[in-house]
Amino acid sequence: MQIGIIGAGIAGLTCAYELCRQGHTVDIYETAPFVGGQASTFTVQGSQLERGYHHLFVSDTHIADLMEDLGLSHQLKWFESSVGLYYGGHIWRFSTPMDLLKFKPLPFFDRIRLGIWTLILQRTKTWNKFESVTAQEWIIKHMGIRSYKVIWEPLLRGKFGDYFNKISMTWVWGKIYLRVASRKKNGQKELLGYPIGSFEEIISALSDQILSSGGSINTSTTVEKIISNDDSVTGLKIRDARGTYSTIEYDKVVSTAPSYILPFLAQNLPNEYIDTLNTTNYLSAVLLILVLEKPLSDIYWLNIADRTIPFVGIIEHTNMIDNELYGNKHIVYITNYVTRDSEIYLSEGSELLKTFIPHLKKINTDFEESWIIEYYHHKIDAAQPIVKTNYSNQIPDHITPVNGLYLANTSQIYPEDRGTNYSVRLGKHLSDIINE
Ligand SMILES: Cc1cc2nc3c(=O)[nH]c(=O)nc-3n(C[C@H](O)[C@H](O)[C@H](O)COP(=O)(O)OP(=O)(O)OC[C@H]3O[C@@H](n4cnc5c(N)ncnc54)[C@H](O)[C@@H]3O)c2cc1C
Repeated sequence: MQIGIIGAGIAGLTCAYELCRQGHTVDIYETAPFVGGQASTFTVQGSQLERGYHHLFVSDTHIADLMEDLGLSHQLKWFESSVGLYYGGHIWRFSTPMDLLKFKPLPFFDRIRLGIWTLILQRTKTWNKFESVTAQEWIIKHMGIRSYKVIWEPLLRGKFGDYFNKISMTWVWGKIYLRVASRKKNGQKELLGYPIGSFEEIISALSDQILSSGGSINTSTTVEKIISNDDSVTGLKIRDARGTYSTIEYDKVVSTAPSYILPFLAQNLPNEYIDTLNTTNYLSAVLLILVLEKPLSDIYWLNIADRTIPFVGIIEHTNMIDNELYGNKHIVYITNYVTRDSEIYLSEGSELLKTFIPHLKKINTDFEESWIIEYYHHKIDAAQPIVKTNYSNQIPDHITPVNGLYLANTSQIYPEDRGTNYSVRLGKHLSDIINE
């Protein structure tokens, strides 16, 4: 079969890789000038680095299996993670259960209560009972209002902005349940994985396999329209980098673009399916990446629980990966998840930098602007689907009402949080559906 795929992110590439192996002819179209989507990389200090921080969990078996398949297993390395929470003017470590016991901003009773309920969630295998309750309601009821205000609300705001009080408890359960698998025995430190050479290694290996099987990957090429006759897909109308339009015939089309894009591409979708597509809201990620002369902290992942600070997380990549790879410089991501009409989204990188610098001094009082060698500013749209209550009823089907048109995007990943591992699973699943 001739198959057209919209999007060269991990889902589109994995789907194409599988379909090529099964003997189909596959063309991928990617509107960006690069391959890899949200997991794409760029060059920093001579090495590849993700536009948005990336790591893997021990539970990410789908991508680990894919790496093995691609002959990349030896590049997947595991590191002890160091997690912290900036609260009340201090960095509090949160890497082991003992750290929770030492977290003085919460009364001792609350620390114990939080610890017990976290353990219960780690051992709860089913998520359905959390579906209809918000994380806010559940956490306040079980872990207490102080734990919610001090720890959970900042974390939820960090990931979901103003939607923090709408998020389903299933999302929190997924984070806690799956991440326990990333801990060493006896609840010790969490292990995080990273492909040495960056996620580009996976993206390039997939691309090479697709090309060598006769497939094509067309960057800077936007799918403008999915063409269909009598409710069956017949092809794609595309616009290439030079602005030239062409129409290509396909038997099947897979869209990995965010849900809200599909109704603009496929004109004859029924209203009911369009309503489901439009139910999912997404937040964009805004990242300022600093290349520093000196380390900002000794923590890899620092959540910011201080609403006077205009960012929600600091991920110091070189506190996980050896900074020799980046010319002995230190790589720090400053992150926010926001809507596209927010001030942070609309600001220039230089404005964000100016705003952020005084706050970086709160994290490390020695920090000087002169430590900044260079900085990069990235915006990634549809970075995080907003997982509200009863989300499972709102997920659009992979098989759309138009024959031969399939949907595979991050809004369909549930109950787990979106991630490269699940985009691999999604891509494979779609290739299975197409072959059935
Ligand atoms: C800041 C950030 C941090 C993250 N951290 C991690 C992490 O630590 N670990 C982890 O596993 N995952 C992480 N993720 C998530 C992970 O990167 C994504 O879940 C995954 O890469 C999504 O892949 P995808 O192929 O499903 O979607 P995407 O990567 O979004 O791919 C869809 C592609 O479709 C293209 N497209 C859209 N419309 C059109 C059109 N009309 N024509 C042609 N092309 C089109 C888009 O340009 C895009 O490239 C992170 C994401 C972000 C944003």
